[in-house]
Parts: sequence; structure tokens; C-alpha cells
Amino acid sequence: MSVVNSVINSADAEKANVAKTGAEKVNLLGLDSEAMEAFFLGIGEKAFRGNQMMKWIHHLGHSDFSLMTNFSKSLRTHLAEVAEIRPPKVVHKEYSKDGTRKWVLEFTSGGRVETVFIPDKKRGTLCVSSQIGCSLDCTFCSTGKQGFQRDLTSAEIIGQVWIAQNSFGPIENAGDRPVTNVVMMGMGEPLLNFDNVVTAMKIMLADFGYGISKRRVTLSTSGVVPAIDRLSDQIDVSLAISLHAPNNALRNQLVPINRKFPLEELLPACQRFLEKFESNRRRITMEYVMLSGVNDSIEHARELAELLRDVPVKINLIPFNPFPGSEYRRSSNNAIRRFQAYLQDAGYIATVRSTRGDDIDAACGQLVGQVNDRTKRSERWQNKIQVDNQ
Ligand code: SF4
Repeated sequence: MSVVNSVINSADAEKANVAKTGAEKVNLLGLDSEAMEAFFLGIGEKAFRGNQMMKWIHHLGHSDFSLMTNFSKSLRTHLAEVAEIRPPKVVHKEYSKDGTRKWVLEFTSGGRVETVFIPDKKRGTLCVSSQIGCSLDCTFCSTGKQGFQRDLTSAEIIGQVWIAQNSFGPIENAGDRPVTNVVMMGMGEPLLNFDNVVTAMKIMLADFGYGISKRRVTLSTSGVVPAIDRLSDQIDVSLAISLHAPNNALRNQLVPINRKFPLEELLPACQRFLEKFESNRRRITMEYVMLSGVNDSIEHARELAELLRDVPVKINLIPFNPFPGSEYRRSSNNAIRRFQAYLQDAGYIATVRSTRGDDIDAACGQLVGQVNDRTKRSERWQNKIQVDNQ
């Protein structure tokens, strides 16, 4: 067995989902601190080399071993034989007038995703994808209509942060890094790709990774209840729920996974998540897309206020971004303001997400990739659009 194979077979490396190429090289980009140490121990080096490598990759943005001057020449040669640092390939990029940046990224093992960076005063938020497509088919979501291809590896997830951070060139001080916040809200349901997402988020939080505060890394889920409990056992990050409806009947239509994990299971899971971290300052973000005539009446707002009474939350109202063939329309500004005012009067923190990057189709819910759909859903969707247009 080669040294590399022995590392790949070690528990630590398996846990970190080591990405391999056809040449059996380990993609170091996707290893968290623990697995990186295990890799170096596996090739007969000291464990501290792991942190040195993390710095080269994630602080300095290097992917070329020959530039890593605190490693001996023989180690650099050996690394080039057994490992690689392979980020996704940027096949297209667009920078909006408002500072928003969007990349279309292609992976060696197939598929494409879009990744978006949204600057806002001192904050720079990166919206990261976890899967190519999504299996869950929420009725208001363009990603869901493209079907599902596969989970992204940890290297493919953290590679999105690597690309975004490096697009700004070398950064001297950690405090000046442009990506200050990451939201796992791009393509896919992150909790259905649990291990790879947790590994990537560990790299986001790690001092030798991106050093992002745990409050600034947010995982957004449609409500995979058992995985919410597992998440709080493994990592401390912020949680957002794609709620979108104040009762089961409507949520069953908009977010079909609600039929499996209804609100009476989802909300106690949110409570348990918060109790785990014992901080009375923490809140879960409830995302609520505003769909005209569907979920945006004052009666819906009243029901929502009642539903969330016992859970510490903030509510983020998201104006719907229409996409071709969609049956929904965006709520009027008046309807959104009325809804927000009702929630605020009921004592909630309720914000309205501003729409950014409209000129480059980077607004929320507009992300598309290239999905080799295994579910045939995208085919059915295209057929529907054609019939609607006849
Ligand atoms: S909203 Fe999220 S979970 Fe639902 S289909 Fe879209 S990407 Fe998947």
C-alpha cells in the first residue's frame, strides 16, 4: 500500500472526504486541520506541517508546492508526487456595478455551480453551494427545477471560498479579508451532504483556514430534522431555516420535505439547536420568500407570529425573484412592508432582504449551474415551459 493510500484509508482522512484524482493524488484543499495533520503524519512528516500547509492554501491562496519555501526541496518534490491543490475551474465570471461578483465554477469530476459574493459596507457575504442541483424540489426555487446530479466534495465546497477570496488578490492582514461571512444557501440542501459540508465549514472557521467567526458562517436548511440535531453535535455555526409558510398545509406545497418533517418536529429541533449552545443572544433566522397572493397576507403574518412565539428567531423576508416558467409572482412592496410591520409590531426582528446583483442574475433564487440531472425533473420542467409557451 502506498503512503498516500494509507493516509486515505486512515480514519481521519476518510472523515475529511479526501478527494482523489485518477492519479490517486490527495486534494489537500478539502482537508480540515485534523485531516491535514494526519496527511503529513502519513507521509512521515511532523504534524505541525499541517498548519503550515493550511496557511499556504487558505491564507496565501497558493496552489503550487514549489512556492512553499518553508518546506524542504525534497518535501516539495514528494508533495507534488502524492498530493495536489486543485480548486474548481472558473469558466465564467461577472462583476456587477454594485460590487456583487458571480462565478460559474466547473469541477473535474463533472457539473457546474454558481457562487456569488455580495459586499455590503464592512461585510462581504459569499453564498456557497453544497450540491450540483437539489433533490428537494421546493416549488418556488429555480435550483430545484434543475434536478439533482451529486453532492459536492469538501474540496469543491471550500474551493468556492478559495476562488472568491483570491479574486481580490493578496491580502496582507487577516482582518482585511473581503469574505467576512459565508452562507450555505447556494445550490443544494447542505444537510443532505452532511459530512462534506461540516468539513468545509470547519476549514472556514479554522484559524489556519479562513478564520471566520462562527456567528458569520450560516447553514440554511429546508428542515432535515435529524441532521439539525447531528449538526449541533459536530459544529457551532449559525442556523437558518427556509420556512416560507406559517402552517403545514401551505408548507407542504412550497417546501415538500415538510411532509416528512412537519412544523411540529421542525420547531422543537430549532429549540434543541439553540439550547445546545446556551447563549440567550442567539437566534435562528427564519427565511420567508414573499409570494404574491400565496403567503403574504396579514392573516399569514398573524399565523407566523403565533407559530414562532416560543422560538428565538429573526425573520428575513425575501422578495421572490421570478424565473422562466415559475407560477409565482413577487409580492408588491406594499404587501412586504405591511407584512414586515405586522411582525415588528408583534415584537419580532423582521428584515427585508435587499435584492443585489440583478444585472448579473445573481439575485437570491436565480442561481443556476450545469446539472446532469439524475431525477428527470429538469426535463419535465422544460416540457412544462414549452407547453406553457404554446
Ligand atoms: S430551496 Fe434549497 S432545498 Fe429547496 S429546492 Fe431550492 S436549493 Fe433545494
